Amino acid sequence: MLVTVRQLLAHAQHHGYAVGAFNTVNLEMTLGIIRGAVDANAPVVIQVTETTIQYAGLKPITHIVETIAKNAAVNVPVALHLDHGRNFRSIAECINAGFSSIMIDASDLPYDENVVLTKQAVDYAHKHGVQAQGEIGQLKKADDSIAALVREKYMTDPIEAESFVKATGVDSLAVAIGNVYGIAKMERGAPPLDLDRLNHIHGRIPSVPLVLHGASALKPEAIRLAVNGGIRVINIVTEIEHAFTSRLRHTLQAYAEEYDPRIILEPSIESVQRLVAQKLRDFGSSGAAKDFLTGQAAKG
Ligand SMILES: [Zn+2]
Repeated sequence: MLVTVRQLLAHAQHHGYAVGAFNTVNLEMTLGIIRGAVDANAPVVIQVTETTIQYAGLKPITHIVETIAKNAAVNVPVALHLDHGRNFRSIAECINAGFSSIMIDASDLPYDENVVLTKQAVDYAHKHGVQAQGEIGQLKKADDSIAALVREKYMTDPIEAESFVKATGVDSLAVAIGNVYGIAKMERGAPPLDLDRLNHIHGRIPSVPLVLHGASALKPEAIRLAVNGGIRVINIVTEIEHAFTSRLRHTLQAYAEEYDPRIILEPSIESVQRLVAQKLRDFGSSGAAKDFLTGQAAKG
């Protein structure tokens, strides 16, 4: 079933788990994500980026996600979100196309400019009944050769996080607490999270769901501590792409004579499905779909 990110975050806030947010680029990844969510009986956010919209087209990818959500996840809530919106035009287009939530990422700008751009997007989103996520602090790539000390200056400052939320009115906030991007961490392992920093941020803005980007390759124990510290959305990009593509490489080698795309792609869908189900269990959200539906029914 298709729901809004607002509904999912309210449920996650109330029950103290994190919603899994997975990036899709096509039909097959969307099928894998939704089947994984059904297996774990967990609510899920499916998100796309501006480059995915360029790749697949806004309406095609929107309709793929919405149609599969309505037909293949009848009892599991699914919401659609724009990940890392960087310009106002694409944000407005997504809102007009029916997204229930957008991210405005102006985190690479100086604080004041980040506030101005974020507030503009938040105001537009709210006018249309859509939620907006902002980001303060900067995420770097795992393979960037920045010493740990230098990396700290890119992390989210708790005081700035509080003033940023007040100044912009964002509904959720992406934080940089040692989380990093990139495929390098799949081999090297993810660097540790600064949980003290997370606790300080959460302590200042307890009602604002915090979002952990770059969460691929984090161990279940690190995830559990982050969820205890107020993380309510966990984004998985690298690991899901890795699951899909590495399985595809393997299948192409194993079935070198096969030309039916369905036979080539089905194992990749399964890999995504398994990964998503496992992640949703790690995030503490397994079984939450049933509770969500019961709550919705009670509200009439
Ligand atoms: Zn991100």
